[in-house]
Amino acid sequence: MGNNGCQEDNVPELKDLFSHRKIADAVSPYTEARYVVFGVPFDGTSSFRRGSRLAPDTIRLAYDNLESFEFSYGVDFLSAGICDLGNLQVGEDVSEVVDTVESVTGTMMRSGKVPVMLGGEHSVTVGAVRNIPKDTVMIIIDAHSDFREEYIGNRLNHACVTRRALEILGAGKIFSIGTRSVSMEEYRSEEWSKVRFFTANEVRSKGIESAIQEIESKNPSRIYFSIDMDGIDPSEAPGVGTPEPYGISAVDARSLITHFAKRIIGFDVVEMTPVYDNGNTSMLAAKLIQDFIGSRESMQSLF
Ligand code: MN
Ligand code: MN
Repeated sequence: MGNNGCQEDNVPELKDLFSHRKIADAVSPYTEARYVVFGVPFDGTSSFRRGSRLAPDTIRLAYDNLESFEFSYGVDFLSAGICDLGNLQVGEDVSEVVDTVESVTGTMMRSGKVPVMLGGEHSVTVGAVRNIPKDTVMIIIDAHSDFREEYIGNRLNHACVTRRALEILGAGKIFSIGTRSVSMEEYRSEEWSKVRFFTANEVRSKGIESAIQEIESKNPSRIYFSIDMDGIDPSEAPGVGTPEPYGISAVDARSLITHFAKRIIGFDVVEMTPVYDNGNTSMLAAKLIQDFIGSRESMQSLF
């Protein structure tokens, strides 16, 4: 575990006097938390624009701008049971990082807590997915199919995440939304049809409701939700490592999250890259986390 977060419990009289690296609404101790936020500052396999290792704290800083009450859901985040453990200490070896993520998310999930992981690059998702029950449906928002068998000699490269998830979950369980960047080898692979890739064009022409209904036809009772921020259009989310034009809208991403939130058992936001951001991407990442927790906790019917 990282050294940040929750340690101020040792010095309660001082805790309000110091800045902190946890999201503003994370006021629950770990033992009582339902949502456990943590960062994975790793971007070791990123191929184009590095820097997602700096995202966790940037997203936390953006989160400071948000109200602790979410009017749309009638939820007070200060009583939503959120803990922030800070950032994992990670080295440069991707397989070690993924193993560490597997270990910590396993600990959280076995105690019934929902991990909310702040990447870092997309490879970190594989560690969390190794813990989820086999009947779990996985929803990914991503511009890229991430479906390479390996990339630059590494099967845990961030370009291989969906392929690794397929090996864990099997055919018919994975829905990737916003696809618009696919290599010929990926597209022609025998595995391609085992994942349902909704292209960004299809979402635009048929509407996000069509994707939601198709996923619902699987009657998913448990969902793992992974947001690669580059799935959203670069006009709304420019701060990413590998941007692709013509993405899905932020509002469509929100609709997917809010529709499925109550069944989500693990959640991550990855690939946000602060140095290329104008402030909007970190803000959107923070808000999507609020949309997730707010709609999952909401007792009122959603808009
Ligand atoms: Mn990805
Ligand atoms: Mn991507």
